[in-house]
Amino acid sequence: MEKPIAFIDLGAQRDLIRDRIDAAIARVLDHGAFIMGPEIAEFERQLSAFGGAQHTLSCASGTDALALPLMAWGLRPGEAVFCPSFTFAATAEVVAWLGATPVFVDVDEATFNLDVPSLKAAIEETLAGGKLVPKVVIAVDLFGQAADYPAIRALCDEYGLKLISDAAQGFGSTLHAKMSNVWADVVATSFFPAKPLGCYGDGGAIQTDDGALHAVMDSLRIHGKGEDRYDNVRIGMNARMDTIQAAILIEKLAIFPAEIEARNRVAARYNEALGPVATPQALADGIVSTWAQYTIRVPAARRDALASALKEKGVPTAIYYPKPLHRQTAYKHFPVAGNGLPVSDLLAGEVLSLPMHPYLDETTQDRIVDAVVSSLAGMPA
Ligand SMILES: *Cc1c(COP(=O)(O)O)cnc(C)c1O
Repeated sequence: MEKPIAFIDLGAQRDLIRDRIDAAIARVLDHGAFIMGPEIAEFERQLSAFGGAQHTLSCASGTDALALPLMAWGLRPGEAVFCPSFTFAATAEVVAWLGATPVFVDVDEATFNLDVPSLKAAIEETLAGGKLVPKVVIAVDLFGQAADYPAIRALCDEYGLKLISDAAQGFGSTLHAKMSNVWADVVATSFFPAKPLGCYGDGGAIQTDDGALHAVMDSLRIHGKGEDRYDNVRIGMNARMDTIQAAILIEKLAIFPAEIEARNRVAARYNEALGPVATPQALADGIVSTWAQYTIRVPAARRDALASALKEKGVPTAIYYPKPLHRQTAYKHFPVAGNGLPVSDLLAGEVLSLPMHPYLDETTQDRIVDAVVSSLAGMPA
């Protein structure tokens, strides 16, 4: 039996920067400022420089990073937020938290990202329905690929909507060398350990060029603080990032650009070998993805059999996402664009994600590719 293959090998990255991580954690233990210590401001400064954003606010999770701007804008019941159904639950969850209504939009069959005609239809239908007031669009950078921000921004401007980039998977992805903050009012990301830029626990961040919005989110992050933390001017929450996580992220951010390049080398080899036998997620023109996941489509009748065959051969896979949100118990009563979301339903049956991380060597990658090709060849058409 060959060495088991990791779906995401966080250990390889840890071993590479172990000394620097240990030293960074030790510095926090020494100074003892576990909450809002000096690494927080330093990490926020570095992340602003990385993203070319005016302001960065670190926070406790990617979910909080989505909730804070909605809270700051005063989102409330009777208001609609448009988002894809083919995403992780947090995207829509934060909308429902605030009593507002997520309106589910379909995705593009090739890129898996928000489908612009479906978004336009959803906005028009919501306006025609007269019950909900359109307010915000949340676009998701699925599997690491920036959404079609120029087109989405144009629609937001046409209808007077705010735009959040849910970059939990695609933070660092570029479209014609620009990150999503060029188009979005707010970029929200997650540092959950398995995300392309992850910490060693929960964490998140919000970027914006809107100084007034940043100031309100800064207050909301610490219980709605005013002049100081015992002067509360609004209802907030506890959404701070731990200092230790910021210290770890400073070390991880230093190698992040090289890791994005490495992920793109892995993806390019996968595309070349698997393009002829399966349908990999397509990238739109001008995209550099962060490849949070490398995902192929195979006919639904073969997908689960392929996953089992790969498991037999020691190749782990995952299905993101087996059920779109509009099919889930907690979300199925919310409105959907048009008469349903056929592409989201189709993709849920066909997608399969393969091992992907920056330290996937070519020998292991070839083993994975051979396993996919031989398993598919052995299946009835
Ligand atoms: C991971 C993820 C989130 C939530 O991030 P957490 O840090 O786990 O709260 C939100 N949206 C998307 C698309 C994600 O993949």
